[in-house]
Amino acid sequence: MRPADAWIDPAEPKARAWVTHGHGDHARGGHGAVLATAETLAIMEVRYGPQSGQPTAYGESLRVGEVDVSFVPAGHVLGSAQIVMEHRGEKVVVSGDYKRRPDPTCAAFVPVPCDIFITEATFGLPVFRHPETGSEIDRLLHRLHADPSRCVLVGAYALGKAQRIVCELRERGHHDPIYVHGAMERLNQLYESVGVALGELRHTGGATKREMAGHIVICPPGALNDRWSRRLPDPVTAMASGWMRIRQRARQRNVELPLIISDHADWDELTATIRELEPTEVWITHGREEALKHWCMTHQIKACELNLVGYEDEDD
Ligand SMILES: [Zn+2]
Ligand SMILES: [Zn+2]
Repeated sequence: MRPADAWIDPAEPKARAWVTHGHGDHARGGHGAVLATAETLAIMEVRYGPQSGQPTAYGESLRVGEVDVSFVPAGHVLGSAQIVMEHRGEKVVVSGDYKRRPDPTCAAFVPVPCDIFITEATFGLPVFRHPETGSEIDRLLHRLHADPSRCVLVGAYALGKAQRIVCELRERGHHDPIYVHGAMERLNQLYESVGVALGELRHTGGATKREMAGHIVICPPGALNDRWSRRLPDPVTAMASGWMRIRQRARQRNVELPLIISDHADWDELTATIRELEPTEVWITHGREEALKHWCMTHQIKACELNLVGYEDEDD
């Protein structure tokens, strides 16, 4: 963002960084001054240690150089924000990662009509239509109850997805203890400390197979197939991700129970959001740019691809 001499979600350490949210491909360590929501700064401190950050509240307007900037909710994970910038009468919104469907762990996306909308497109193909979250959670519970001698092991990103799965389970009436991998402990504590109630969580470390039978266990995706999972009672392997729409992705991870639960907008959410914001230009990043660009053109909206380096889906 040149008129403000600041970088948004920079991949390299910068003197001034504006950070949309805490996922590793957006929030990195080593910046000079970080402008982000208090929750995002707290997440960065858990991951990278102390930050020289300036917390900003949703909706608060700041003047930086020649730019008025504010952060508004993106509905992606705790603390996630779109960055709204006004410069010489032109309004630009950087969506960061976002979704439109309800998420009990974070503030809902706020649509901000603008001239230029810079959107992610992780699931920017018409094949990606995420089902109702509740029906996916019901499939998980159904599988759990089908065999009380086994556990269901759910692979879920440690920031956002894991806590959302827990909350969605609680909303569906599942109040049994849920076992969690040790790598999730600090982020779970952070969520609890800002008022996201997760119910009874137990650590897998020290628990016996017999204790974990008939329970849900949540771990980071990387732990799904590693030695760690041998301590579990005959786990049914599940994974919660928008990519679970693609059978091949599920097979790659030996996932028996693919759950299509995503923290990103699906095709319908992407296109509905662009319709709602009525931008004159859309810049597309972070995924499958081509189809969304084509959709914009057929709707008389100027569109281009922004090729950014260093973004992989840490989250999905
Ligand atoms: Zn993200
Ligand atoms: Zn991302």
